[in-house]
Formats: sequence, C-alpha cells, structure tokens
Amino acid sequence: MKFTVAELEQEAVDFDESLAPAVIDYVEEMRQVGPLHAAGRADLLKEHRGPQEIVADIRVRASLQTRMELPCARCLDPVVQMVDSTFDLLFRPVGVDADGVDRSITASETEIGYYEGDGLLLEDVLREQVLLALPAKTLCSEDCKGLCAECGRNRNTDPCNCAAAPADPRWAALQAINLQAVRSRVKS
Ligand SMILES: [Zn+2]
Ligand SMILES: [Zn+2]
Repeated sequence: MKFTVAELEQEAVDFDESLAPAVIDYVEEMRQVGPLHAAGRADLLKEHRGPQEIVADIRVRASLQTRMELPCARCLDPVVQMVDSTFDLLFRPVGVDADGVDRSITASETEIGYYEGDGLLLEDVLREQVLLALPAKTLCSEDCKGLCAECGRNRNTDPCNCAAAPADPRWAALQAINLQAVRSRVKS
C-alpha cells in the first residue's frame, strides 16, 4: 500500500491492513509467522519554511500486531515473539533537510523519517517498526543455558560432560593445538 502526496493532498487515508507472511522481507534470521495487522491513518502535514517554501510531510500514526520468529540469542533455537506496538512518525521528502538545520517542528515525540519520490510505502514503514519493536535480545527462556562453548551442544536439551570451565576462546584454541599434536603423534 502506497501513500502518495497527491492522494493525501485530497484527504487523509485511513487503513486497516492484514499482511500475510512473506509480503515483507525482513533480515535473514527472522520471519513473520502470522498475519501482520496494521491500522491507522496517514495524512499530510505542510511545513511552511518561508514564503516560497512549503514542505509536504507525510505523517503516519498506527498500531501494529504480529508474531515474529527469530533465534534465541543464547542457544539459537527459534523463538516466537509477539509484537504489539504503536507509532507516530513524520516523513519528509528526502534531501529537504540537507542543510543540516535541526527542525523539530513540535515538542511532541514524533519521529522523523524520509520518503523518496512521490510517496511512501506502508510496507517499508511496517518493516522498520517491527524490527524496532523487537527486544534487543530474544531468549527462549530467561534461564536458557545456551550452547556449550566446548562442544557446541544445546545445554538445555543435550547436557554434555564438558568441564564447567570458563569459556575462554584462548583455551579452545590451545586445546585444538594440543589435540592436533596428540593426533600427529598417534599417526606417526
Ligand atoms: Zn535459548
Ligand atoms: Zn560440551
């Protein structure tokens, strides 16, 4: 769905969309596992920057809900994460702030983005908002034990007998060297 400036010049657009998985491409490690529901309004906001200069900003206010699947930060097992957020964003034509002057038009918490050409794709807005709404670190459970630094097994489901030694990568490297030395001795 695209909001064009020409269309918004006429009237605000209310939307209530349900996007199936795979409509939006996310980053590689994550995927949408249910419909993405987004409802809100897009309208045009005209900034008068001088007698000759009027900047047409697109404002999008909406709520979104979906479910995303992404790897646990510790054990890499897939985790389904609910996303439920609201946003209020202002998009200016790209390049219009190239003079570097900071123009926060209101004291509100409206965030500023940019649109290219004649308008803005709702899908682009939603992709970014879904990614922003996800927690910085997703865990399959608060006490996920993660992967064993020695043997790589999932310590939640496949406990191993590796020493509970601190997982220092220098040790691992040293052990690899020792192992090689042992192997070459065995061979000869
Ligand atoms: Zn985990
Ligand atoms: Zn292990």
